[in-house]
Amino acid sequence: MSVRVVARIRPLLEEELDKDIIVRPDSAEPGKPNTIVKIPNPKNEAEEFSFAFNGVYDRSTSQETLFTAEVQPHLKSLFQGFDVTIFAYGVTGTGKTHTMRGGLKLAERGVIPRLLSGVFRRGKKMMRDTQGSTTVRVTLSYYEIYNDKVFDLLEPLEKRTASGLPLRAEANGRTVVCGLSERACEDLKDFEKMYIEANNNRVTAATKLNAHSSRSHAILRVKLTQTTGDTVRESTASAIDLAGSEDNRRTDNGKERLVESAAINKSLFVLSQCIDAISRGDKRIPYRESKMTRILSLGQNKGITVMILNLAPLRSYQLDTLSSLNVSSRAKRIEVREIENEVVFKQVPRTKPAPGAGVARQPLRP
Ligand code: ADP
Ligand code: MG
Repeated sequence: MSVRVVARIRPLLEEELDKDIIVRPDSAEPGKPNTIVKIPNPKNEAEEFSFAFNGVYDRSTSQETLFTAEVQPHLKSLFQGFDVTIFAYGVTGTGKTHTMRGGLKLAERGVIPRLLSGVFRRGKKMMRDTQGSTTVRVTLSYYEIYNDKVFDLLEPLEKRTASGLPLRAEANGRTVVCGLSERACEDLKDFEKMYIEANNNRVTAATKLNAHSSRSHAILRVKLTQTTGDTVRESTASAIDLAGSEDNRRTDNGKERLVESAAINKSLFVLSQCIDAISRGDKRIPYRESKMTRILSLGQNKGITVMILNLAPLRSYQLDTLSSLNVSSRAKRIEVREIENEVVFKQVPRTKPAPGAGVARQPLRP
């Protein structure tokens, strides 16, 4: 399994144009593509932290550029039978939904509609090229994980039970969601109708549960089934718009929020542990420790995982930005750099959080 972790810095919104930009991309060597994100130390503005990624996309990056660079290359692997998983991780307001779903205009379309469009195009080409001896079927599931419970977004809200859908471990070690609906999907139009309807389902819920969408993980699963005679090849592409990674405890101490925060923090923590373990090539991936990583069998299949860290460049996000950079950048390559005297400390030791602690690694405090 391979993993790529990339950062995307969003532009300033119209109402933010007079604000300070404190997050900036950089390259490891002059002339090379950006792989580094820099942000000042909130405790000492003369000092800057650097975080390394596999790629860093600045505010001018279009939806098309991001898709072409980070997702499109994996379509081939998906058709070869590998699973592809794409996460958007970050604080609420940093562009996760923009990156995954995007706007309605063609140029503003996000990763998800572009992925589907690519899958349909490839599927049709394959059927043409094999003169129909290979058939390609696409089915969709769309669900959210809220407070560690699974809810089907393709079903109307009234059908939700308080406990959500149960999970079941299959003989092959995979975890499945019992009773999750699957819809066949013929083309992009089909998909869009279903997707908009399902998202409205989520929006309806949002009016009942304050800011619900930032507190749940939304997972779209695209199952691809290629059949040639007796041979059936199945693979899945999963696109995940994660719950906001901000520390909810700081802003709201209601009991309901605390329960939500604990569930969000735990699952994001396990996710980051899995990503770390996969990128280190570890044998043991702690995917069983949260529902989301279990359902995705993260690290258990041969496949590709792309984590996109969304960042807002503003000072008002500074602490949350630092903590999400700490969680998602490749730990081994984190450097702390003094601007003034060029001292570079490599290999910042990882601190193990206390059980149940919120964020994976505390912001660096020199
Ligand atoms: P999140 O899902 O992480 O809470 P959103 O995707 O809703 O964040 O983004 C917050 C706001 O920023 C939205 O108004 C969105 O349209 C805008 N935005 C985010 N990323 C970009 C971008 N790359 N280009 C233009 N606008 C963006
Ligand atoms: Mg969102």
